[in-house]
Amino acid sequence: MSTQVVTRFAPSPTGYLHIGGGRTALFNWLYARGRGGKFLLRIEDTDRERSTPEATAAILRGLTWLGLDWDGEVVSQFARRDRHAEVAHQMLARGTAYKCFSTQEEIAAFRAAEEAEGRYPVFLSPWRDADPATHPDAPYVIRMKAPRTGETVIDDKVQGRVVIRNETLDDMIVLRSDGTPTYMLAVVVDDHDMGVTHVIRGDDHLNNAARQQMVYDAMGWQVPVWAHIPLIHGPDGKKLSKRHGATGVEEYQAMGYPAAGMRNYLTRLGWAHGDAEIFTSEEAMKMFDLSGIGRAPARLDFKKLENTCGHHMAMADDAALLQELKAFLAAAGREPLTDVQETRMKAALPFLKKSVKTFPELMEKAHFLLIDRPIAPEAKAAEALDSVSRGILKSLTPRLRNASWTKDSLEPILNEVAAEAGIGFGKLAAPLRAALAGRTVTPSVYDMMLVIGRDETVRRLEDAAG
Ligand code: GLU
Repeated sequence: MSTQVVTRFAPSPTGYLHIGGGRTALFNWLYARGRGGKFLLRIEDTDRERSTPEATAAILRGLTWLGLDWDGEVVSQFARRDRHAEVAHQMLARGTAYKCFSTQEEIAAFRAAEEAEGRYPVFLSPWRDADPATHPDAPYVIRMKAPRTGETVIDDKVQGRVVIRNETLDDMIVLRSDGTPTYMLAVVVDDHDMGVTHVIRGDDHLNNAARQQMVYDAMGWQVPVWAHIPLIHGPDGKKLSKRHGATGVEEYQAMGYPAAGMRNYLTRLGWAHGDAEIFTSEEAMKMFDLSGIGRAPARLDFKKLENTCGHHMAMADDAALLQELKAFLAAAGREPLTDVQETRMKAALPFLKKSVKTFPELMEKAHFLLIDRPIAPEAKAAEALDSVSRGILKSLTPRLRNASWTKDSLEPILNEVAAEAGIGFGKLAAPLRAALAGRTVTPSVYDMMLVIGRDETVRRLEDAAG
């Protein structure tokens, strides 16, 4: 196909960005970006009762956190209602739609009669083929003249060939009696006008696709490529709900998952390419295709999410990781880093990032650089600070004052002090951990000393030595 690929994400702004929506957006983004195409964003705010500006803002924030940038302005579906109505009238002019004057009562009576006869209650309007000369001066809706016989075939890139018997579909309303367009019409007009070539969305919209395809046909427009992706299920195989854990994209940010890891994990959730597991978004763009999307619902696996995030923490650029850490602290409502903490964090990230999966874990491992003197050691750590150990620490501090501050110079000094005390380095490490971090489990003693620097190290040892 020579035309440029155009995809879109079309959320209804009725709540936060759901993780399933985030994945739908991601698939659309990857598909377009990997093909030099465009990824557009349309807010489907036609339902005025349920749409809120807060929800739109939350959706944009969620997408931005996930790193899914869209092309051009955000399109408001509601703002395009005149255009939708215009198309409904064009359908009338083309003879592919008609004015229907049936009242609610007539329609209900028709359905009841059909059901009584044991038939599927598809409303057949008596106005479908009526001569306009017989039209009353009364309110009307515009209905699409849907084919009554035969089949509508959705050639879906994920679901395969989906066949819908036309007799099961009624002539759907495209314009209501108050002149407002229906959602079904609006989606098609918008996708057409926005030049959307590929509609990639949840398979809860598969049934809509048949009706929507009829609108394309009624207008003589090119039908897009359809790809209806299975929804995300919880670890137990049931439809994902709050019961399983977080369902909102922003909740994952607040829980401290790095965005790159989240993208990687969500890409693999329901899509596969050989045995590729850990990849950057650039790599994903090159690999991503519709044929790799599975037909079975994907199950959320928190362990796998964490492992994937661990790889991305370790792979991350230090400066970018620091920025993301700061954004996490803000999102989680935690205290921002002080200048001193930030300077230390910069020095510690190259090693800390290698052993953590999330930002809270990173902060936990960074405990030694976040605390201020005097450090109150935890009870277990305090046990290592007996009088013998305190004496050893005392003999260490003067030697550290003149040492050059590299691991290579510090190592012989610590070994020497341990040897003089007749203990192994392992025995020295415990009081050092207690003095430097107030804990028994910490990063390596050298790493901590290098991060906090000579003065702070000496002061912490002096505090502990008493
Ligand atoms: N607004 C619809 C939703 O949020 C999506 C419609 C579409 O992608 O065609 O479920």
